[in-house]
Amino acid sequence: MSDAPSPPSIDIAGNLAAVRRDMTAAAVAAGRDPAAVALIAVSKFQGPPAVRMALEAGQRIFGENRVQEAQAKWPALRQAFAGTELHLIGPLQTNKVRDAVALFDVIETVDRPKLAQALATALQQGEHRLRCYIQVNTGEEPQKAGIPPREADDFIVHCRDALRLPVTGLMCIPPQAEEPAPHFALLAKIAARHGLAEVSMGMSADYRIAIGFGASHVRIGTAIFGPRPAP
Ligand SMILES: *Cc1c(COP(=O)(O)O)cnc(C)c1O
Repeated sequence: MSDAPSPPSIDIAGNLAAVRRDMTAAAVAAGRDPAAVALIAVSKFQGPPAVRMALEAGQRIFGENRVQEAQAKWPALRQAFAGTELHLIGPLQTNKVRDAVALFDVIETVDRPKLAQALATALQQGEHRLRCYIQVNTGEEPQKAGIPPREADDFIVHCRDALRLPVTGLMCIPPQAEEPAPHFALLAKIAARHGLAEVSMGMSADYRIAIGFGASHVRIGTAIFGPRPAP
């Protein structure tokens, strides 16, 4: 994260407008209401000047994948721009749960019982307006976070009913080398059978497909901010 101004060659407002246009077109093509699909601008590794440009262009929902980076960046930006909503889209360690609960509006990466328990404990200790999504490892990749699909039903019920977590949605990151469509279809199916309205899926390369399969939130970084600077 640097304070250097982002390169003027990257037209963040223009990119945002283009992504929003594409999202609308994809929703209309799928027979969906464009207003039912929200854009999460993934600002990980982007410095405050780039994020400010997106805020100034009217963007209000952002995704970060590290608690510490978000803590350094967001308090000042939130003071300057009202109505921001911050999503944690990267792995969460249990020792960072309190910090995450204090900063984020949505934690998209609830992926294991130990984390769910730690979140439940933290949420009992005060006011919050947090929502949680369960991350599902739809590709069953050993190196990837997320609950395996065959355990997802039990885990969702456990989080919601036993731990009383405010679970409102699901999230997935399909395997890189595979066709994403079956993964999007699977995630939407699991969400539907639990009555979960929020389905976070689709990134720069495949958000149009995800919208076709019912995404309520797409997470887009590169198509808005350009290539990410080194972390
Ligand atoms: C980085 C990231 C994105 C954004 O990816 P792009 O390809 O830059 O759009 C979306 N989701 C998650 C979980 C990410 O870590």
